[in-house]
Amino acid sequence: MAWTVDDGTSTEVVAAYAAFAAATGTRLTMFVNGIYASWDENAEALRSLVASGQVQLANHTWSHPDLTTLDDASIQAELQRNHDYLAEVYGVDARPYFRPPYGAHDDRVDAAAAAIGYTTPTLWYGSLADSGELPDQQIVDLANEWFASGRIIIGHLNHLPVTRVFDQLTGILEARALTTVTLNDVFISAAHP
Ligand SMILES: [Zn+2]
Repeated sequence: MAWTVDDGTSTEVVAAYAAFAAATGTRLTMFVNGIYASWDENAEALRSLVASGQVQLANHTWSHPDLTTLDDASIQAELQRNHDYLAEVYGVDARPYFRPPYGAHDDRVDAAAAAIGYTTPTLWYGSLADSGELPDQQIVDLANEWFASGRIIIGHLNHLPVTRVFDQLTGILEARALTTVTLNDVFISAAHP
């Protein structure tokens, strides 16, 4: 199962996910918006996890706009600024994966992104629905509903409740004999080295 987490409006939540990954070996893909201070503030904690490949960083645009409302040059500027940030601070090339904010994309957005190397819009099949704050138990219930083999699950680095139920989420993975993978773990290929 590919456990992906987005945004990073909370430094505390990004820190908790980094600590969780380090403690458990859970493999994660983080769709970063570089505009949030959490990515500078957690760079030390994340850098070795990123360097080892346990945590993959991917592109969620710089400032989280609805890309379908922007012209092509602005779409590319949003992705490129974030790309450059990830290269500079974390030393990674986030291509080819981008996640359009709100899942909003169309053929024009995809073509503009592909022209600068972001050839793979990455959506999800299953959500912890925590872009806004939810009760702890609701996140556990959603994990019970969605965690399964072969799925891309979306969560968010924005609100604390998920950090209080990591043990229960890990328990669901274990009970279902699921292992976690990054996007690169699964999709790397000659076409997308
Ligand atoms: Zn987002």
